[in-house]
Amino acid sequence: MSPHKARKRFGQHFLADEGVVEAIVRAVAPKAGESVVEIGPGLSALTEPLLQLLKHLTVVEIDRDLAARLRREYPADRLTVVEDDVLRVDFAEFGDRLRIVGNLPYNISSPLLFHLVPYADGVVDQHFMLQREVIDRMVAKPSSSDYGRLSVMLQSRYRMVKLFDVQPEAFDPPPRVVSAVVRMTPLPEDRLKPVSFKVFEQVVAKSFAQRRKMLRRGLADWAHAIDWAGLGIPETARAEELSVAQFVALADSLQARGMVAG
Ligand code: SAM
Repeated sequence: MSPHKARKRFGQHFLADEGVVEAIVRAVAPKAGESVVEIGPGLSALTEPLLQLLKHLTVVEIDRDLAARLRREYPADRLTVVEDDVLRVDFAEFGDRLRIVGNLPYNISSPLLFHLVPYADGVVDQHFMLQREVIDRMVAKPSSSDYGRLSVMLQSRYRMVKLFDVQPEAFDPPPRVVSAVVRMTPLPEDRLKPVSFKVFEQVVAKSFAQRRKMLRRGLADWAHAIDWAGLGIPETARAEELSVAQFVALADSLQARGMVAG
């Protein structure tokens, strides 16, 4: 097949290191009958070894040339190629008990992670290669410089483990940054949940909008309605010092006091 020229606008960096491919597939450990969806299959670095273990695989690829190549390469009863922007894809259509895998285009990593949150109930796990800096923020603990909106929003919905780093030389062309692989497992039904996820999102976003300020200043017009002592949050706290559970309590109390609509 003719060589493919990597397209920058689609964040194309193809995995060229067999050792890294094997490590990712080993981490996913797919079993024959499972429903697996791969995001951004590209030139099949992960697609091929996944298909060796699975009966069927679904892939979502935005690049028309790569999608056509995949359709030529694999029979339709083994590989379903969805040619679309993954941010527009309704993952509910793939059924439930989904396992999602991908060496993701880094330019859309945050929007994609948030796009997948509403489908978490139907997901078994997600294994993603991302910029290491993004994964560090996803798994960061309170009172660390990486802890922020991404950490709180995703940790409220998933258990996340950073698995290993991947150096730029593992890709062709190499990206400018170090990458890493993360495993995200949706938390069970009995997890701590905000009354309204929408309110929780708003409160977390506003809290971190001015992360260096004390929360009571950052939350400005909402601050007077907060029973700091009742919530066990010091009045001098900054957003980065609050645990996920404290953000849930804060959001619920602001909603109960009618400050934020659900
Ligand atoms: N999985 C391949 C590998 O490991 O070599 C390719 C990884 S490359 C970093 C990202 C892939 O995602 C490319 O194939 C790119 O065309 C595709 N892609 C980029 N943006 C996308 C989008 N919005 N929706 C679906 N696929 C996308």
